[in-house]
Amino acid sequence: MIRNPLIFAAVSDFAGKTRGKAFPEQDLNMRLRRGVGWAPTCVQITCFDVIAPSPFGAIGEVLMIPQKDTEVRVNFQDDTPPEHFFLCDITTLDGKPWSCCTRGILKAALKRLYTLAGVRLYGAFEHEFQIKDKALTANDAYGINAFSLRRQLGESIMAALAQAGLQPDSFMKEYGTEQYEFTVKPKHGVAVADAAVTARELVRMTARRLGEEVTFAPIQDIASVGNGVHIHMSFQDGGGNSVSYDPKDPHGMSKLTGAFAAGVLKYLDAILAFTAPSAVSYQRLTPHRWSVAYNNIGFEDREAALRISPVTDKSPESVAQQFNLEYRAADAAASPYLALAAIVHAGAQGIEEKLSIPPVSHEDLSLLSEDELAKRGYTRNPQSLEEALERMNNDDTVCSWFPEEFISIYTAHKKCELEQLEGESVEEQCASYARTY
Ligand code: GLU
Ligand code: MG
Repeated sequence: MIRNPLIFAAVSDFAGKTRGKAFPEQDLNMRLRRGVGWAPTCVQITCFDVIAPSPFGAIGEVLMIPQKDTEVRVNFQDDTPPEHFFLCDITTLDGKPWSCCTRGILKAALKRLYTLAGVRLYGAFEHEFQIKDKALTANDAYGINAFSLRRQLGESIMAALAQAGLQPDSFMKEYGTEQYEFTVKPKHGVAVADAAVTARELVRMTARRLGEEVTFAPIQDIASVGNGVHIHMSFQDGGGNSVSYDPKDPHGMSKLTGAFAAGVLKYLDAILAFTAPSAVSYQRLTPHRWSVAYNNIGFEDREAALRISPVTDKSPESVAQQFNLEYRAADAAASPYLALAAIVHAGAQGIEEKLSIPPVSHEDLSLLSEDELAKRGYTRNPQSLEEALERMNNDDTVCSWFPEEFISIYTAHKKCELEQLEGESVEEQCASYARTY
């Protein structure tokens, strides 16, 4: 069949969806310069394809500008056309960053961190997903047989990620029904989130070629575990040396890491509106599913909002270089750009406020009484998206981190998404999100 190859210009939007338009390959140089036209109101397309109230209406135009170093071209070596796409910044027609460009919002957050502390973010997203419909195995959490049945998928995913310039790190059968996890090696700055957008889409594209549909929805079955997105973060100076670690601190945190962590915990109730931005995200964020319920930093604790990740002197990498914080209260309903931007701003705010290294928990906080929690400065996180949106809107500091008009547009978007779910039971809501993510 005749074919004129197309390149997809992609953005990751408020709905956490990757959308855009394709152009013929021969126009690439022109498109890298002038971009691809985009309707501003597209940012209000919710994850259920309903258009939320938009200040832009049917009017106006912005430009998706493909970013050269985000190019992905994966040849699956089957009979399907290679996947070829670029991630884009969105600018106004005169080339200024657009207020609702999620990638631009992350770049501004990273710039703030660099200006304040002279450090670059080094990190990686860890993803969990589930294969839909057909359960090939039961009772085989982390099992070799469940893994073996999906070895083809795992190996194809690893190959696709590698062709896209990501360094695959692991693939495993997770605890839940048909739940799998993959990890990639860390990158710097905005590329941390670029890699997450690319990885999610490549997993879907790979699975589809093998006749499978996958979902990254925050949770499918509230009797079981959710699909988490865990964001690993450390900080490097201009020479690529870690400034995250201090052997003198009992838990290894440098003052910088401690202030960053304290900022994230202080503003956690508000930034959840960006990192856990679906109605069912809050079904996942409950105790006893290796998820997050409180505003704590824990030592090697899988139920902490921030986990101090394990390090080992058996690794060829130094302990300082390995040392990182893992933000666990995120899921794949969030655009990686917005999730990471909110976390980086909260951390930068902690540095700006010169917050001290927070106390580290070593136990199950859900077993403590309200009094005991309050005495130790812990609070239960918001338990619904409505509540998180309200906390975010009521926090002038948090609102001040973002471009003007962004907060009101994002809030209208999310409220419209919630309206779409009215009358649905929690089970139906989970099914709605599993269809969309
Ligand atoms: N599935 C858990 C979550 O929702 C995480 C399990 C793990 O620690 O890998 O975050
Ligand atoms: Mg996992």
